[in-house]
Amino acid sequence: MTKCRECGYSDWTEKVLEEFQTDVFGIPANICHTVVEKTCSHCGIKKYTLPRDGKVEAALAMARVLIPIKLSGREIRFLRNTVGMSGKTFATQIAGNDPATLSRWENDGQGVGGYADMVIRQKIAALLHDRAPAIPYDPKVFVGMEIIDGISPPTIALEPVRLKLAGDSPVSQEWEAHKIAA
Ligand SMILES: [Zn+2]
Repeated sequence: MTKCRECGYSDWTEKVLEEFQTDVFGIPANICHTVVEKTCSHCGIKKYTLPRDGKVEAALAMARVLIPIKLSGREIRFLRNTVGMSGKTFATQIAGNDPATLSRWENDGQGVGGYADMVIRQKIAALLHDRAPAIPYDPKVFVGMEIIDGISPPTIALEPVRLKLAGDSPVSQEWEAHKIAA
């Protein structure tokens, strides 16, 4: 067991939290029934262990592009990081524009246009849905989707779920998403 950085003892109590609110993945999320809270029995300091296998980010990204509220600059940066692209690659392959424009979006110097917003959603969903198999996805959902501007998106709550995918694949842990009113 690791030693406490504060007091040097190594006597922790552990519990799995029902909910854990965090921005650490890039957009607001509420991770349910997963995050382990360790409390030092000696000095009371707390440590949290978050899942960092990339599936959380993929599920958050999928859930977000399916919510018909205009994407912010910060959210676009989160989507770009989740697909692991440089600004230049994302601008040309996903957003269909130039890196300078993408940079203005990401820094909220310029709002994202409605057409670009929709193209980004469609391409991100096409790239990521395999990595978030517990999020229901049908490409047709984007047809005629009305994007709402001027309101904040809800917090996305992620719930772990064990899923048997097609064929001989073993059961894996995936994420379901729920919206929580902002
Ligand atoms: Zn301690």
